[in-house]
Amino acid sequence: MRTDRDFGFTEEQLLLRDSVRDFVRKEMPDEYARRCDREKIAPLDVFDNMAELGWMGVAIPEEYGGSGLGFVELGIIQEELSYGLLELAVLFYRATVHGAHSLLTYGTEEQRQKYLPLIAAGKFKSSMSLTEPNAGSDAAGVQTRAVRDGDHYIINGAKVFNSQIDIADRTVLVTRTDPDVAQHKGISLFFVDPKSPGVTIERIDTLCFRSVGTNRVTYENVRVHKDDLLGELNGGWKNLMTNLNKERFSLCAQVTGAAQAAMDCALQYAKDRVQFGKPIANFQVIQHKLADMQIAVHTSRMLTYDLARRLDAGVTCRKEASVAKVFTSEAYFRVADEGMQILGGYSMTPDFPMERHYRDARLMRIGGGASEVMRNSIAKDLGL
Ligand SMILES: Cc1cc2nc3c(=O)[nH]c(=O)nc-3n(C[C@H](O)[C@H](O)[C@H](O)COP(=O)(O)OP(=O)(O)OC[C@H]3O[C@@H](n4cnc5c(N)ncnc54)[C@H](O)[C@@H]3O)c2cc1C
Repeated sequence: MRTDRDFGFTEEQLLLRDSVRDFVRKEMPDEYARRCDREKIAPLDVFDNMAELGWMGVAIPEEYGGSGLGFVELGIIQEELSYGLLELAVLFYRATVHGAHSLLTYGTEEQRQKYLPLIAAGKFKSSMSLTEPNAGSDAAGVQTRAVRDGDHYIINGAKVFNSQIDIADRTVLVTRTDPDVAQHKGISLFFVDPKSPGVTIERIDTLCFRSVGTNRVTYENVRVHKDDLLGELNGGWKNLMTNLNKERFSLCAQVTGAAQAAMDCALQYAKDRVQFGKPIANFQVIQHKLADMQIAVHTSRMLTYDLARRLDAGVTCRKEASVAKVFTSEAYFRVADEGMQILGGYSMTPDFPMERHYRDARLMRIGGGASEVMRNSIAKDLGL
């Protein structure tokens, strides 16, 4: 049973939402989501079926084979996919935001023509390679080196937590091209084929995100053509920052969908579970937990689509993106945590999706900008 309502969407947006919702119900039922997580299966079959429906090109301009819609539609799709399995939405977002929006924001016309039609057709997967063993929140400290050699760059270094690079056609690789200037000024991005000679990928065993998963990657004398430079040389940091709000918005939509799923699961369980001769949903303390979940999910959705509409309008939204990222990820965690309490001992078993939500929610307060770093950014906006 779904407890969310229309959210100021147009008729077309509601139609899109209902189509994705229907698709997820059929293609990613709870049982399959749990199997993907337990058996570490990336749902590439669902990705391919989704691609056939044209959703990968939703926010890609028509001239490149997409439908030319915007962030509200991107949010609707991610929220609904995430209701089934958060990592399914992540698969979608790596291609449509990390891939397509990187190209749209700072790619060359040639790169756009080469890759965007493939992304729109769902024949192309991307990943993002930023984090390194010694550069996490302090991302400008990346040390992976790219050195010019004729028409190529030679890349050496190590990345960690590179999600889905093992199945990606290209990754946005963040490198240091000038070690002699201020940290932020010597960074360049490349669109690299992870199957290039010299790239080694090793899966990391993690508590969460076990379906598509994440990886440790080493680059040993990897040759990348100069045409695969994304954006201007040494201008990588500025470009990364330009795209950051779009990434944070995507994470907000994903955790909102997942939180809605966790809440719906807890609500149903509370109605079904009888103790002391009545459903536990009759106890006021359980009702208040569910009411708090509703407040968390509803507010998350408001913040997410407020951000989407700002992105669609092209207005500045760094502060709103940080506020929404902190609120929605922490809201998902609170919902999953209280969901565990409502399901009692059964929450710990793989018979219910709550333990997966609890694990995935824990990551979302860390990945894509940890809550502490987001609060630093909000404090900076307050002039502190
Ligand atoms: C499953 C998974 C998937 C991921 N996928 C990707 C991916 O695809 N691509 C990619 O590039 N990265 C990815 N990441 C990396 C993720 O974005 C980083 O883990 C995150 O940015 C935090 O970096 P860190 O883990 O090195 O923690 P650290 O930066 O070492 O932080 C540790 C703690 O210190 C706090 N801290 C750090 N600096 C400050 C400060 N200035 N003020 C206050 N507190 C601070 C942090 O908030 C945190 O609580 C993934 C991570 C995981 C676990």
